[in-house]
Amino acid sequence: MLDFNNLEIAFSSKTQSELKNAYLLFTAIKYPALVKIAKVATSVALKIHFPLAWAVKPTLYKQFVGGETLQDCEPTIDHLKQYHVLSTLDFSAEGERSEEGIRATFEETLRSVDYAAKNPHIAYAVFKPSTLTYDDLFSKVSEKREKLTIEEVKKYCEFTERFMALCQRAYENNVRILVDAEDYCFQDAIDELTDEAMRKYNKERAIVFATLQMYRHDRMSYLRRILDDAVEKEYYPGIKFVRGAYMEEERARAAEFGYPDPICKDKKATDANFDEGVRFVIEHLDRMELFMGTHNEESNYKLARLMLDKNYSPDDKRVFFAQLLGMSDNISFNLANAGYNVTKYVPYARVNDVLPYLIRRAEENTSVAGQTGRELRMLQSEMSRRKSNKKRIPIS
Ligand SMILES: Cc1cc2nc3c(=O)[nH]c(=O)nc-3n(C[C@H](O)[C@H](O)[C@H](O)COP(=O)(O)OP(=O)(O)OC[C@H]3O[C@@H](n4cnc5c(N)ncnc54)[C@H](O)[C@@H]3O)c2cc1C
Repeated sequence: MLDFNNLEIAFSSKTQSELKNAYLLFTAIKYPALVKIAKVATSVALKIHFPLAWAVKPTLYKQFVGGETLQDCEPTIDHLKQYHVLSTLDFSAEGERSEEGIRATFEETLRSVDYAAKNPHIAYAVFKPSTLTYDDLFSKVSEKREKLTIEEVKKYCEFTERFMALCQRAYENNVRILVDAEDYCFQDAIDELTDEAMRKYNKERAIVFATLQMYRHDRMSYLRRILDDAVEKEYYPGIKFVRGAYMEEERARAAEFGYPDPICKDKKATDANFDEGVRFVIEHLDRMELFMGTHNEESNYKLARLMLDKNYSPDDKRVFFAQLLGMSDNISFNLANAGYNVTKYVPYARVNDVLPYLIRRAEENTSVAGQTGRELRMLQSEMSRRKSNKKRIPIS
């Protein structure tokens, strides 16, 4: 029976010293004030090009990141595969956007698609569309605010070509590719392009996956539209569900610019929306594929139960459970042990480039109710369990 409290399975991949490191790290990021200070300090350090690797590499980076390059991630991929957990390598360089930086990100993401094709222990490729263009331009197009200049039209065309080129490369390699969801002000444009890519590349199976942030109250109607469109135009949508990572910013922006808050009124409403979406896809699995990214234990139990009720085998290739590297191992490893398809997002990038991602993880761990407390309690229990087991070993 599936039990996320089985700590022996949850932490079988961790040595005692890795457990200790994780414990110290989660203890530190439990304090919101400390994370706020770290956020300010890192943004200053980045501006003045102050080297941070010495502080970040052995701590946050070690816990949440696979390495600087695709090749660096190999030990992580090999390690996870021993526990039947697949990897999804996520090039996570964020920050300053320049023409050269955008081109480099595009090329690296293409390489990650090729790399995924060669390694059966990589489940998906993934990309974050905003890293391939400029924020101002992206939101201007997405929100249809004003007419673009000729130069902007040219730049936006370059972006859409890159977006499609990544999906095309995934299609040619038969690799499934996740299009991450982002801020509300970019999302209409992302949806439009993802819909187009799904129509084009998902004719035989789901290759391109749209991400739906279920903290948005309009996502069920979008999901129904996708299904209707897929039936009419004969393709197989891939749907990735998350709750959504930008709630505070979205609420603040809606208030600032005077448009209705796009987020569900409370956590309960988000949870109900999330459940409804997952159930909808499971009920239409003949036409859709599902990727569920969450650290919420209840959601993971519910999906496992739903599959059981519908007589789907746990390893049905149309359904994947996913968590981020370094978080909620109790969910990932217990699901994989019970035969479900599980993948970890494994971010990779140079230390300075991955800092915004790391700060988001630290913030998430202070703000997601109970998450850090849960990690700490489990780490502590596992360390004590191992200690007492050691004591019990008889001396021959
Ligand atoms: C594999 C993976 C991939 C991801 N990819 C993306 C992505 O592409 N785009 C993206 O935006 N995020 C992404 N995320 C992050 C995700 O959206 C969540 O921020 C994170 O996983 C926490 O949600 P949860 O379901 O794990 O946990 P829970 O603790 O159950 O949920 C916390 C979430 O609930 C919502 N919530 C909390 N309070 C309220 C409230 N008062 N009212 C309404 N809603 C509320 C928020 O979305 C919050 O993040 C990803 C996460 C994973 C694990």
